[in-house]
Amino acid sequence: MIAYLECFVQENDTESRPYDVVSGLSDALDLQGTIDCGDAAEQSAKDFGGMNSLPPLALVRPAGSGDVASVVRAAANLNLTAAARGNGHSINGQAMADRGLVLDMPAMEDHFRVVRTSNDSGYADVSGGALWEDVLKRCVRDYGMAPRSWTDYLSLTVGGTLSNAGVSGQAFRYGPQTSNVTEMEVVTGKGETFVCSEAENTELFFSVLGGLGQFGIITRARVLLQQAPDMVRWIRLVYTEFDAFTRDAESLVTRRRDDGDDSLDYVEGFAFMNSDNPADGLPSVPLHPDQVFEPTRLPEEAGSVLYCLELARHYRNSDHPSIVDMGVERMLGGLEFVEGLEFQVDLGYEEFLLRVKQAEEHARASGIWNAPHPWLNLFVSKSDIAEFDRVVFKNILKDGIGGPMLVYPLLRSKWDDRTSVVLPESEIFYIVAFLRFTLAYPKGPSCESLVAQNQEIVQYCTKKGFDFKLYLPHYRSQEEWKRHFGNRWSRFVERKTCFDPMAILAPGQKIFPRNIPKS
Ligand code: FAD
Repeated sequence: MIAYLECFVQENDTESRPYDVVSGLSDALDLQGTIDCGDAAEQSAKDFGGMNSLPPLALVRPAGSGDVASVVRAAANLNLTAAARGNGHSINGQAMADRGLVLDMPAMEDHFRVVRTSNDSGYADVSGGALWEDVLKRCVRDYGMAPRSWTDYLSLTVGGTLSNAGVSGQAFRYGPQTSNVTEMEVVTGKGETFVCSEAENTELFFSVLGGLGQFGIITRARVLLQQAPDMVRWIRLVYTEFDAFTRDAESLVTRRRDDGDDSLDYVEGFAFMNSDNPADGLPSVPLHPDQVFEPTRLPEEAGSVLYCLELARHYRNSDHPSIVDMGVERMLGGLEFVEGLEFQVDLGYEEFLLRVKQAEEHARASGIWNAPHPWLNLFVSKSDIAEFDRVVFKNILKDGIGGPMLVYPLLRSKWDDRTSVVLPESEIFYIVAFLRFTLAYPKGPSCESLVAQNQEIVQYCTKKGFDFKLYLPHYRSQEEWKRHFGNRWSRFVERKTCFDPMAILAPGQKIFPRNIPKS
């Protein structure tokens, strides 16, 4: 079969004879799923970033892990690459395979099973291509349970976020999503399928978590669950001074949790502009249309950049409102936010977790959802965050970015060092996310100028010797990747040699060139 395929790919001009390519590959691979190299494959040549386009040879919709394994084996024999594509929400082409095979992971057969291990804990076995929003709905509606650690936006796939980390406001407490998975089924770059966990195929398990798709394709994951709350009190507190903002944020994420009454379930934060811009100014802070940001509440000395701490506390319908209010009051006691600039709203747990979906609908309606997104995400150590604020927020980005600028602390001890993720050295570090929503040029600045501004920020951090790492990293040369991984580079290379020696997987990350055997 493979001999036939080799001959087939060599003989066919893949650009001009797509129909032959599809039918030939399909017959030879003997897939349960389907293969396409028409419009659907063209779609997979794009991603959310909207700055790259690399058409694959074909898009495969695998029915199950057997199909994933046969595609990887065929790619090995045909000197092709293969990329798992989650929901294509990468920024820089990370899920693309230039003239290779792209696997449409959400197309995989549904796998969903919940096991309750006690009254308030359990786990869900879910497909690698499942969207987190579907995992949420099924766990909550059918079992009253929910994963512990989330991303802000849930139209992302389980395999896609686990290949990076998966960070949101719960990570200070439970760690990223990679710290909340206990078992996976993985197809390696050798086309072999393994179940792995901390106890079984340990090296593969930790390699794949945060592994940027380099070591294997996650076809199933076991996600830890807890009892889902009914309701969430969502709170925003405004600060004019960065040091007060970080002091309070750090005290909240490091607070001892012995006293259940004062416990927070979510801590995030963002910088915003002291302007009336609806996208990133004062109107972007209130949580409900009835709430108004009253600028007269701001002290006279307030600068052009302000900060907002975003908190949430879970509760049950059976909790008496006064108990919830008292708990929140105690939680906020002693915090140094600007008096009168505090916003609160109560909403259902699902509605809270799906909050960015609403923003997506607005952005789609205004046309900015499909415009390019030159996003930049970094982890910056606590020791450098004040200077980062002075130079980046208050100087380089003093006019804002037309979208959210997230900044909130995380704790290194909640991350497992054995995964492939690389972090700053210090226990407390900040995630900083510049989520740029651009207007198509010439209405807004050109995408190139925004990418250049991102580079300026990264170069500044490098020049100053900051303890920082890119999150959702993107580099063009192996030298840059070596610098990114630092003393973990050799471990990363060893893992690659072990699990994907021909460098077939996730070529869009541009870490390893395809290793083609000499004939
Ligand atoms: P893709 O972009 O399709 O793939 C990402 C990488 O993982 C590729 O290299 C791909 O080959 C590989 N991959 C995909 N599936 C698998 C699999 N099953 N097995 C192995 N490798 C695989 N991130 C956060 O941490 N927190 C957030 O709050 C957050 N919010 C976001 C909001 C928006 C609107 C967007 C666009 C992104 C956000 N992200 C966030 C980033 C997100 O984690 C990444 O985009 C991530 O890549 C997941 O997207 P995806 O599932 O579409 O994967």
